[in-house]
Amino acid sequence: MIFKQLFEAESSTYTYLLHCTDTGTTALIDPVIETVDRDLEVLQQLGLKLDYAIETHIHADHITGGRMLRERTGCRLAGPAQDALPCRDLGLREGEALRIGNLVLNPLFTPGHTDTHHAYLLEHGGLPLLFSGDALLIEACGRTDFQSGDAHTLYRSIHDKFFTLPDETLVYPGHDYEERQITTIGQEKLRNPRLGKGQSLEAFVKIMTEMDLPYPKKIDWALPGNEACGACPDNLPPEKERLCQSDRQG
Ligand code: FE
Repeated sequence: MIFKQLFEAESSTYTYLLHCTDTGTTALIDPVIETVDRDLEVLQQLGLKLDYAIETHIHADHITGGRMLRERTGCRLAGPAQDALPCRDLGLREGEALRIGNLVLNPLFTPGHTDTHHAYLLEHGGLPLLFSGDALLIEACGRTDFQSGDAHTLYRSIHDKFFTLPDETLVYPGHDYEERQITTIGQEKLRNPRLGKGQSLEAFVKIMTEMDLPYPKKIDWALPGNEACGACPDNLPPEKERLCQSDRQG
């Protein structure tokens, strides 16, 4: 397996590259439109052909690079089937593994940040790797106060789907705002200030309700962009227009 954690600084998003060396199959999880050229460069340097661009959820803080990657590589777009996006090629469901060559990616339905959010669990060589999307972050979790978020639901997802995984499970989050790269289930069960040390549902909901976060800056154009798999919507701000131009370089 080749594995790479790639970072997009403006939205502090992690994109993950997974490659099966047995079969030559390659996937990116949560690519970002701003860093499509960087992703293509990484693929080229490694001599890889992209097969899948996979989404954990419909993002509100950036536009996905999926559509542009499909245009430029012919890859297939995958994401939660419940999103029911006609622009995707493949709908993913818990209980139906996606095979990236010999790498088996198990979708976990983990709503709460959004109502169709899925994380992906990869068991490779005995060591489980969890791509937790925006459900569980390092000593944090995704917001539950906009889109289809719900704090009760997120608490249940994290407890029932993540905290039941082995403590040594490596957790790769969808974001980190301090450029921390990795955590484990065991560490989050102990150290997560919102959920750790057996935090109750009531205490978690209170924390999430009282956060009083600002309205997401990009949501008005990121959501329609992502519902179209990464097409630029008409209300894109002028400074972002270059992102969807076909002659774009760098
Ligand atoms: Fe998100």
